[in-house]
Amino acid sequence: MISKTKPAAKLLIQPRPLARQHRYITWLSLSLMSFLALMVLIVYESRWVYPEIQAYFSQTGNLTGQQLATRSRVYLQNTQSELLTDQPEQAAFDAAILNIELAYGLFDVHVYRQEYECAEPNLMILNRVLAQLELRELDRVAAVGELLEPIQCLTHIEMNQLDQRGAAINDFSGSTRQHNQVLTYSSLLIFVMGLVFWSLHERQLRRTDRATQETFEWMQRAMRDPLTGIGNRSALHQDVLAKQHQSLGLILVDIDFFKQYNDAYGHPQGDTLLRQLATLIGETLNDEAQLYRLGGDEFAALLRCSDTDTLKSYCRQLIEGIREANFAHPAHPDKKGVTFSVGGCRFVADEATFAYAYEAADKALYRVKTAGRDGWQVTEDA
Ligand code: GH3
Ligand code: MG
Repeated sequence: MISKTKPAAKLLIQPRPLARQHRYITWLSLSLMSFLALMVLIVYESRWVYPEIQAYFSQTGNLTGQQLATRSRVYLQNTQSELLTDQPEQAAFDAAILNIELAYGLFDVHVYRQEYECAEPNLMILNRVLAQLELRELDRVAAVGELLEPIQCLTHIEMNQLDQRGAAINDFSGSTRQHNQVLTYSSLLIFVMGLVFWSLHERQLRRTDRATQETFEWMQRAMRDPLTGIGNRSALHQDVLAKQHQSLGLILVDIDFFKQYNDAYGHPQGDTLLRQLATLIGETLNDEAQLYRLGGDEFAALLRCSDTDTLKSYCRQLIEGIREANFAHPAHPDKKGVTFSVGGCRFVADEATFAYAYEAADKALYRVKTAGRDGWQVTEDA
C-alpha cells in the first residue's frame, strides 16, 4: 500500500478525555471542599462560639449591673427581716445597719446614678435611715417602711437591666443569624462563581483544542497532493528534515510522454492514470517508501537506503513494475504501454545534501530521458 506522510503530530493534539475528566473532578472537589469548609466554620461558630458569648451575657456566673441591684435589694429585704424578728433591739439594729451598708455599697454605682432617676434620692434615703438607726431615732416598723421605696427603685433597676440584657441578647442572636446567612450565601456564590469560571475555562480549552486541531488538519491538507492523496513537495522537504542524519535514497519518477497520453485519452483519464501510478509506485516499493507528487507527472519516493545497490534495485523494480502493469498508451511514440523514466541518488539527510541529491537525481532522470526514456539511472552518493 502507499505509505503517505505519517500523521505523527496528530497524536499530540488529540483530545485527552482522561485528562479532561481529571480536570473536572479536581475543579469540582476544590469547589466542594471550599463550600464544606465554610459550612464547618458556620456550624462551629453557631454551635460552640456563640453560645459561649451568650453565656457571658447570661445571668449566671457573672456580676452584672442587674445582679448588683438584685444583691442590694436582697440586703435591704434582709434588713427588713432582721428588724421584724423578735430578737433584742440592739442586735436587730446592728444587723440592719450592716445590711443597709452592704446594700448601699452595691447600690452606689455610677451607672445607676446616671441612668436611673430614682437612684440618687433613694441613696439619700438609705443614708438618712442609716443615720437615724445609729441614733435610734427610728423604731423598727418605721425603718421597715423607709426601706420600701429604695427596694422599689432597685426592683425597677433590676427589671430595666434585665430588659436591656434581653434586648442585647436578641440583637446579638439576630446579627449572628444574619452573619450566618451572609456566610452561607457568600459561600454559595463562591461555589457558583467557581463553577462558572470552570465552565468558561473548559470552553476556552475546548476552543483552543478545536483551533489546534483545525490548524493541524489545514497543515496536513497543505502538505498533501489533492489529486493522489500523497504528500507534495513541501511534505518531502519536511520529511527529509525530520530524518536528519539518516541514510536515505531519493527516487524521482517521471511519466514518459504523458502529454500525448492526455491528448489521446483526455485530462480526466490522465488524472486517473496519475492516481493509479501513485498506487503502483507505492505497491512496488512496499511500505518502505514515502511518496510525493512534485507536480505535473513527476513523483518522488524517499526511503531508507544504506547502499547504492539497494537504491538501484528499487529503481529497477519500478521500471519492471510499470512494464508489468502494462497500462495502455495509444500515443506512445515507441508503441509501448505507459513507461517511466527514473533517476535516483543516495544521501545522508540534511538540508544541504538534500538539495544536492535532488539535483543529482533530476540529472540522472534527465539522462534517462535523453537516452530514450523507459529506464533508470542512479548518481553516485551525494
Ligand atoms: P516527457 O516524456 O519528456 O516527460 O514528456 P511529457 O509529455 O510527459 O512531458 P512533461 O513531463 O514535461 O509534461 C507533463 C505533462 O503532464 C504536461 C501536462 O499536460 C500534464 N499534466 C500536468 N499536470 C497534470 C494533471 O494534474 N493532470 C493531468 N491529466 N495532466 C497533467
Ligand atoms: Mg513526463
